[in-house]
Amino acid sequence: MPKEPDLKKRKTAITSNIEHSEDAGKTLHHHDRTILIDVKQALQKLGEIPLVDYYIKIYRKYIRDFKKKSVFTATDDAYCTDIRECNYCHTTEDSQISCYCLECQIFICDNCVIEHRMKNKNHNNFYRPEILRGYKLAYSWTPSPYSRIVDFKFMVADIVAILHIDKLCTYNLTGRLINYLSITMDQENSRIACINDCKIAVTVPSNNLIQILTILASTTLTDLRTPEETKMTGGVTCRMDILYVAFSDAIRLMDLSGIIQRVVNIPGVKLLHSVNNDKMLCVYNKFDSVKTVSCLDCTNDSLYFFERFPFHPDDVTTDDVGNIIFTEDGVIWHADSDGKNIKIIMSPIPYYEYEKITYNKDLKCLITNNGYDDVTEYRKLE
Ligand SMILES: [Zn+2]
Ligand SMILES: [Zn+2]
Repeated sequence: MPKEPDLKKRKTAITSNIEHSEDAGKTLHHHDRTILIDVKQALQKLGEIPLVDYYIKIYRKYIRDFKKKSVFTATDDAYCTDIRECNYCHTTEDSQISCYCLECQIFICDNCVIEHRMKNKNHNNFYRPEILRGYKLAYSWTPSPYSRIVDFKFMVADIVAILHIDKLCTYNLTGRLINYLSITMDQENSRIACINDCKIAVTVPSNNLIQILTILASTTLTDLRTPEETKMTGGVTCRMDILYVAFSDAIRLMDLSGIIQRVVNIPGVKLLHSVNNDKMLCVYNKFDSVKTVSCLDCTNDSLYFFERFPFHPDDVTTDDVGNIIFTEDGVIWHADSDGKNIKIIMSPIPYYEYEKITYNKDLKCLITNNGYDDVTEYRKLE
């Protein structure tokens, strides 16, 4: 069995105490900028520039979440009780008030949050921490310390493929490493799709490249080149051994030898998620399109646009009965299969943000990462 190289851990020991203290944000706050500069200089000497970016990201996140926390944990001395009511329906039910709009400086209840987002698409919203609805916490583990997670997907049963900034790894749900391979990728835009129980596709938009990894006794890698004149966005999914690859102008259907079989004229898609053999969710890039999410019927190429869906999810999946689960603003949302009845189901503890999600239909299990190195597993309540 391959072992994790420990080179990375040794190099990054300088940040370990701070990143992994119980309250990284507070530590950062106390040490303030001096330590940030010291660590930056030290890391630059070590040639670990990506880690400097990572460290700065943690600091920025702390500042943002510090504001969020203070909104929802202020005592009545700081906030009059009559301010803590929904600005729209005026409910004062504390458990219902999950959102605070920074621009409007108002509290908004769960029932009114979609309405507010429809009217104010660019407002910054903060959410009450530690919401957990319809799921229970099962397990939390750190797959590869100090190696940021770019994407992950369930492959089969309890095996999950995790794309780190420098490698693709497979783990079981207890966090045990099964296999890994160093590959190149785009740190922001690479995405993975599971083709079958032992094959994974990884998109590398900056190189017009799709890498196919076969993970059996040994791991093999095949490169598929995409046309030079096209621009991949990173979005990818697989349906019946055909890769659906998102480009800025269209979705291209490729077989596993890299031959383009068909072009579906849907531009501006950044994420693709195969729901089942008939349906596929398309999430549009907010900078390219006013549309947010649509559902493609693969049997006849018809497209159903979600109306009143004021989100451009950072990641999307579907549960065992076809409900849509997605992340945006660092919290996890739930919608019916037609994009209606949207509600928040999970929000992280202070200083964290949920980023990626994947769901295993057999285990009724959702895993998510919290913006640092940790993966958390939730089980659906029956
Ligand atoms: Zn309300
Ligand atoms: Zn607002």
